[in-house]
Amino acid sequence: MYDYLIVGAGLYGAVFARQAKERGKSVLVIDKRPHIAGNVYTEETEGIQVHKYGAHIFHTNNREVWEYVNRFAEFNRFTNSPVANYHGELYSLPFNMYTFNKMWGVVTPEEAEERIEEQKKNAGISEPRNLEEQAISLVGTDIYEKLIKGYTEKQWGRPCTELPAFIIKRLPVRFTFDNNYFNALFQGIPVGGYTKLVENMLEGIEVRLGVDYLEKKEELDGLARKIVYTGPIDAFFGYRLGCLEYRSVRFETEVLDMPNFQGNAAVNYTDRETPWTRIIEHKWFEFGKDAEGNELPRTVISREYSAEWKPGDEPYYPVNDEKNGALYEEYRKLAAQENRVVFGGRLGEYKYYDMDAVIASALAKAGEELE
Ligand code: UDP
Repeated sequence: MYDYLIVGAGLYGAVFARQAKERGKSVLVIDKRPHIAGNVYTEETEGIQVHKYGAHIFHTNNREVWEYVNRFAEFNRFTNSPVANYHGELYSLPFNMYTFNKMWGVVTPEEAEERIEEQKKNAGISEPRNLEEQAISLVGTDIYEKLIKGYTEKQWGRPCTELPAFIIKRLPVRFTFDNNYFNALFQGIPVGGYTKLVENMLEGIEVRLGVDYLEKKEELDGLARKIVYTGPIDAFFGYRLGCLEYRSVRFETEVLDMPNFQGNAAVNYTDRETPWTRIIEHKWFEFGKDAEGNELPRTVISREYSAEWKPGDEPYYPVNDEKNGALYEEYRKLAAQENRVVFGGRLGEYKYYDMDAVIASALAKAGEELE
């Protein structure tokens, strides 16, 4: 009999497992995939750490979380600065003075602010009620049309007028020349990959892979006093109130016989016509070098395509609109009655969590539980 059965070996599960183990609890971690690390899983190809389920750049303002992850990995100095490609025109992201200069030829912050103010006024927006209005009120119509609208509609498969404003607020808007995508005190990529980081968290903890919890729920429930479930909350309840919607992502990954394909880790294709949302060139997360510091002759790229989730696909992004929010609320009430089960993580809480927030949430929950 274990104290905890942890369903899912992603960040939430691994952090909870580590904390429980350190408080002397017995822990079993299971995952239905053949590997640990959930969607932060990385795998080496051609000396390059490939982010198999999409690019993950660790960034946080939370010192406690930063110190915590640094116990398990060393972080490099990678700073995310994606480039936007709109029909072959390149722009700096996030929206900053380099972007405004390229878009309008403006040179000073005051000129840029005037442009945005004018476009916002012409669009007649005072209180933004959705993503489109929020975007226009932050950066004006030109940037909305070229850098936001197409990308967002591809990524979410919904018109910007039907998406919540908070999604675009994830991105900073700056009137300085600063291409750092995140407003974070701490940022980097774990040297040697995320899989290694999670492996270190799980050191000394029993892990069983290729085990599908929901298929053998009764038997597995018998193994532990408490369950930490990090899978989709609607799946846990057999979708009895209906399906929550997710966006899924499909990757087409290629090894190319050239040292440099696009000169940057991430290029976003912000027009509506290009079918992929972005291309990741993985070697640039580690400055194009292998563990010994040698330049790598080849490169690995992943084209990312966004799709509506259907049963059998991997869920990636919860669709946090009103309809799904209301349904999640009903599932949350059911979850609250499950005294032996803790629901956590992006899927367990149906929340668009960043990695640092997931870790903070797992640390807080473990703190409460293990008091
Ligand atoms: N976004 C955009 N254009 C871009 C990049 C992002 O319009 O070139 C918008 C889009 O709506 C997206 C949101 O900003 O859903 C958040 O982007 P982020 O990079 O945080 O998404 P993630 O990395 O989590 O996929």
